[in-house]
Amino acid sequence: MIGLISATAAGAAARDRLAAAWPDRTRVYDGPVKDAVRSAFAECEQLVCFLATGAVVRLIAPLLGDKATDPGVVCVDEGGRFAVSLVGGHGGGANELAGEVGELLAAQPVVTTATDSVGLPGLDTLGFPVEGSVAAVSRALLDGEPVALRAESAWPLPPLPLAREGAHAVRLTDRAVEAAENEVLLRPPSLVVGVGASQGAPVDEVLALIGAALRDAGLSPRSIAELATVDAKAEEPGIVEAAARLGVPLVTYSAGELAGVQVPNPSDAPLAAVGTPSVAEAAALVRGGELLVPKRKSERENGRPAMATCAVVRRPARGRLAVVGLGPGARDLLTPRARAELRRASVLVGLDQYVDQIRDLLRPGTRILESGLGAEEERARTAVAEARAGHAVALIGSGDAGVYAMASPALAEASDDIDVIGVPGVTAALAAGAILGAPLGHDHVSISLSDLHTPWEVIERRVRAAAEADIVVTFYNPRSRGRDWQLPKALAILAGHREPATPVGVVRNASRPDESSRLTTLGALDPAWVDMMTVVTVGNTATRNIAGRMVTPRGYRWQESAQEEGK
Ligand code: SAH
Repeated sequence: MIGLISATAAGAAARDRLAAAWPDRTRVYDGPVKDAVRSAFAECEQLVCFLATGAVVRLIAPLLGDKATDPGVVCVDEGGRFAVSLVGGHGGGANELAGEVGELLAAQPVVTTATDSVGLPGLDTLGFPVEGSVAAVSRALLDGEPVALRAESAWPLPPLPLAREGAHAVRLTDRAVEAAENEVLLRPPSLVVGVGASQGAPVDEVLALIGAALRDAGLSPRSIAELATVDAKAEEPGIVEAAARLGVPLVTYSAGELAGVQVPNPSDAPLAAVGTPSVAEAAALVRGGELLVPKRKSERENGRPAMATCAVVRRPARGRLAVVGLGPGARDLLTPRARAELRRASVLVGLDQYVDQIRDLLRPGTRILESGLGAEEERARTAVAEARAGHAVALIGSGDAGVYAMASPALAEASDDIDVIGVPGVTAALAAGAILGAPLGHDHVSISLSDLHTPWEVIERRVRAAAEADIVVTFYNPRSRGRDWQLPKALAILAGHREPATPVGVVRNASRPDESSRLTTLGALDPAWVDMMTVVTVGNTATRNIAGRMVTPRGYRWQESAQEEGK
């Protein structure tokens, strides 16, 4: 919950906007400011104070405890110009909150933690549990001193400017080791703990068993990714509660699926009870990996039989492939999610001209693999291979990366051993539509006129179908120096079914510095205006030029009846 505190009328107005935008996330604290701050500090994970930073510093000073547990506090000034991350920048999420509040109130977020202001991710924000000398190693990174990466497994880390050698180190390990001096341990979510339990097994027995198994194998409980068991035990309180206390999800599999997993220690008891000869080992191994702790039973208590079993597997690292659409060009048409994925990736793959478009957003240490026009297949293969090697990869494309772009060749190449995250982008047809007016107000298609990979007969058949069905058409790849007859041919097909006066929008370099557009007609369009930086949108028989804007009516009955009434 985010506690909101204000003192003045202007502060209350801004506070109310936040409360209205985030009704489920916020709670307003009224009354004397001092009491409000004290209550909110005790009850909320985050505070937004519409007060001077000085006032807030004095009010929270006596309440501050530890940066791991204190709420994140953001201050917004009386003029609503700044959202200042005051304390709890990382742990309390105040830096991120300052950004969100800033966006909502059109205020400038002010972040002073060093790692964020220079674009380095804080070591405690990588999404992995961290231990050790976080402050010292972060400072070394900021000072540009060499920090060594010691990775015992390839886990998809965000980019960090790490070296082979250095007086400081970041060590990625799931083993139960202590951090050395000047070393940070990152705990990858690499361990799957398979658990079996008879009915009524106490949670303490399950947890003690898991703890002992990890301890004896020299593994860190902070690297547990999940508990796994059979469907029949999905509600078993001892297992459910163990997962909750460990703070990890519980995943379950059908007995049939588990029965098919090869395990070293099958037995008859679970076969009779739940229909698979192994629960703990099979559930841990079902997604593959290395069995580090074979089946192990809990300790008997007072002569009663053991009630739980567990097994531990180190799962193979899964690389991460984000397929990111950059939008048509303008920076503010790049989505925040795309931006976050670009900063999350340690390897960036893309066409050189698109890489140039976003180079400044990348974090230091990002490995950039750029190539020239035409190398699509190779780019797709490279991106997938890098993800398979366990890296966090972003594969970029302009507009939407799934529209005549890299997503299809990449996903045709990928198997289910990597995670794939798609980030949609504003495709050229939409960017152009917004410039032209409302040409896509009713059914519309996009057709690429490039016959490099598609036979012209296929393209022509589709153009004909769109013409006959009276659908608005946007042509991508409409015309290049070597391909100049396709556009006139396609327009002629449409002209067979639409009046010469049908509006046609031609948009070149939508949202780029040299953007241009013109609204013409099917009869008057000069193909010489069109090149490969252009999209051409042809209206349907109802599309009109209204005050210089291209408008395709939605065609609903209510519009017709409204028009009738107007007559
Ligand atoms: N993935 C891209 C399309 C790639 S195909 C997208 O979703 O937009 C390349 C074609 O897209 C170009 O030949 C041109 O027709 C069109 N295009 C891409 N960006 C454009 C822009 N900013 N303005 C106009 N047309 C654009």
